[in-house]
Amino acid sequence: MSTATSTKKNKNINDSTSSTITLPNNINNDFLNTITDPTDFTKTNLRNLDSLSRCPICKDFYETPVLVDCGHSFCSLCIRRSIVALEAICPICHVEIKESQFRKNDVVEGTVKFWKMMRPLMLKHDQNVPDTS
Ligand SMILES: [Zn+2]
Ligand SMILES: [Zn+2]
Repeated sequence: MSTATSTKKNKNINDSTSSTITLPNNINNDFLNTITDPTDFTKTNLRNLDSLSRCPICKDFYETPVLVDCGHSFCSLCIRRSIVALEAICPICHVEIKESQFRKNDVVEGTVKFWKMMRPLMLKHDQNVPDTS
């Protein structure tokens, strides 16, 4: 399995033939609200940060995140729907969970709030700075 040579296309930033992502000069609200998924980011760290801000069930940014018994976090609505539709277990580690033990995860909620605000800027930064990793 050592044949994975150059699958990363964005390494050579001076390559004029490469299809670079062009951002609109006048960044409008439409652009700011265009939030797709972690693969928007080319840098692993930013991509990871974006992934961490998302609920494992709906894959969208956490909405009223709750911490369940095992330590995993989900949107309040997502996990409640999950335990009603399926079993009262964590969808990730399959540990038994109790709704009475759910705790609002203020830290995640705050982080997601600021990440969503920062995201358009970080996306711009991501595409203008060479990958140093
Ligand atoms: Zn969710
Ligand atoms: Zn879990």
